[in-house]
Parts: sequence; C-alpha cells; structure tokens
Amino acid sequence: MDTIQSITTYCLSIPREVPYMGALGKGDTQGTNGLFIRGGNRSVYSTSDHCVLVRIETKSGAIGWGECVAVVAPQVAASAIESLIQPLLLGRDPHDVIAIGEDLYDSMRVRGFFGGFWGDAMAAVDIALWDLKGKLSGQSIAQLLGGKRTKRIPAYISGLPENTMEKRAALAVGWQQKGFKAFKFPAALNPQGFVDEIAGLRAALGPEAMLLCDMHWRNTAGAAVQLIRRMEPFNLAVAEAPVAPEDIPGQAHVRRSVDTPVAIGEELRTVFEYRPRFEAGCMDIVQPEMGRTGLSQFWLICQMARAWNCEVMPHASIGIGIFQAASLQVAAAISNCPIHEYQHSIFDKNLHLVTGDMACSEGYFHVPTGAGLGVEPTAEALSYALKLN
Ligand code: MG
Repeated sequence: MDTIQSITTYCLSIPREVPYMGALGKGDTQGTNGLFIRGGNRSVYSTSDHCVLVRIETKSGAIGWGECVAVVAPQVAASAIESLIQPLLLGRDPHDVIAIGEDLYDSMRVRGFFGGFWGDAMAAVDIALWDLKGKLSGQSIAQLLGGKRTKRIPAYISGLPENTMEKRAALAVGWQQKGFKAFKFPAALNPQGFVDEIAGLRAALGPEAMLLCDMHWRNTAGAAVQLIRRMEPFNLAVAEAPVAPEDIPGQAHVRRSVDTPVAIGEELRTVFEYRPRFEAGCMDIVQPEMGRTGLSQFWLICQMARAWNCEVMPHASIGIGIFQAASLQVAAAISNCPIHEYQHSIFDKNLHLVTGDMACSEGYFHVPTGAGLGVEPTAEALSYALKLN
C-alpha cells in the first residue's frame, strides 16, 4: 500500500502593481503590512496576491498539489496544515480522500471549527489528495468524478477595474471583441450607481450581452429588492450576494420577490453551510469557491444544487491556478454549470506560474488535460514563498 510520506506548505506572496479590484480610492482604509479595507464591501485585502500551496508526497514518490484561498494571513492556514493536519495524515493511504476529508472535519467540529481558516486548510489538502488520486490512476479529476463532459467552459468577465464609466465600458467592449459574452460589475458606492452602471454597460455592449451584478452583501432585503427591480429593465441576468451572508430569511425574501435569478455562496465552505439556504429557497445559482471548499465539498454542493434544480457558477479567487484547475475539472464533469467566473486580472497575471495547457480565451476556459489537476506550480511560483522562520 502506498502511504502519505510528507506534506509541505508554501505561503506565496506575489507582488502586483495594482491591488485586486483596482487602485485604492475614497472610502478605502490603508493598514500596515500591505493590508487595507475596501469601503465598498468592508472586507480586508492585501496589496500582494497571497495563497497557500500544499505538496503531498507518497512513499512511492507520487506528488499531489493543492492550493487554498488566503487573501490575507496565509500563515494561518499553512500553520493549521503543518501543526494539525500533517501529523494526522502521515502514513495514511493517499487514495482515501473522502475518508480523510470527513475525518479532518470531524476532528474539529465540536470545537466550533466548521469553516474559516480551518476550512481553507482542509481545502488545500483535499485538492492535493484528488490530484494524487488522479495521477496514481492516470486519469483526470473530471474522469474520476464520472466523466469529462466538455473540454471548454464559458467564462464571464469579472470586474472592470477602471475609475470612470467610460473606461469601464471601453474595457468591457475590448473583452467583447475578444469573444467574451458575459460581464459582471461590482457594487457601486451609491444606490443610483447600480442603475447607471448597468445602463452604461448595456448601451456599450448591446442587447445580447449577459450582465451580472455583484451586490457585495451590502443591502437589507427590502433595499436589495428595490435595487434589483430598478436594474431589471436593463435585462439583469444574475443578482449576486444581495444581502448579508448570514441573513437566510433575507436571501429567501429577495429570491421570492424579484424575477432575476439570485446567486449566493462564495463565502460558504461545506454542505452544512449550504443546506439551510437550499431548504429556505435562497437562490437559483450557487457560487462555491474551490479554494475554500476543496474538491470533495465542492462536488457535494454541486450535487445538492442538482437536487434543488439550481445552477452552479463557480467563484474564482486569488491564486496561481491550482484551485482554479480543480474548479474547472469539476465544472467539466457536472451538467449544471453554464458559466464560470473569470478573474482576468488574477488568472492572466499568474498563469505562467503553473504548468500545463489551462487557458482562457475567446470566451471560454480550456480545461487542463493530463492526469489529476493537469497543472503544477512552476519553480518561479515556489520562489514567491515567504520565509517564515
Ligand atoms: Mg462575489
């Protein structure tokens, strides 16, 4: 029997010229150590791209790679892997990915660790084990999940980081000319801004473009309903995160009250967090983030979505492309994923940090080929590892 022999973590910090979602502006608050708060959604970000990589090696010499979201403080998830997960996993059979995932979840659940940094740590390890499982069997993860339905997945342009409507419209038109048909704009700072934004984009992109709005959890349910109704004359395709993530009754109220499909879920990590939202009828679309859920939970969330007749539009966050590849592998294996988020300002910048043929062009993600994930970090990627001791 092959066994897990070593687990190594890397906290990557990759410099970027302009912070994610654009330059700091009015309402943003700068902290120290590269951290700042976006006034628009009250969330903390870093001026550099951070993520955590995990490398798992087996006794036979097989290597699997995983990655989790770590927008800030990557040391936290890395430390959980090194101090807690590694001692529990050494010597186990690398094929036992589901059993290992359940055991890790159970090991901390009654202490109140249901997600958060702990969930992120488990996600990175879970992805690495699926990569190993694929490599050991010579199959892609999509094949392991039951069948690769497609080689390419439609992609929507996420975010238009310019500071005027004119420039944002021009940016969107530029992507449209490259073959992209769907565009998501983030919450504006004032309510009228939403309507101005969708009106400007609709005028620039024409009647066929798919327009999605990320409302960034900012509104009460009543205010969200009002705003969505004002955007509906411009043929809004998706209203994302209309109310606070904890407000399950509010999510359900919004979904019942508007014609636009409602999407939620990028912040949720497990089926336990999704379950009450499905039961309450909170959404038409789920947006699991692979870098937070890991592959096993992501897959289960997709199956729950199928049972509740919801679509899956996976979220895409900051990373070098390892969890992005895992997300594409699942998206290629399920029947209810019409489109995947494309964070062009991250994906394009970091794509050279992974091997393989993963790409996004002419409106589509190209699912990486090869066994396991189909991507691995390059030596340059590992050169961005923080020295922690
Ligand atoms: Mg979002």
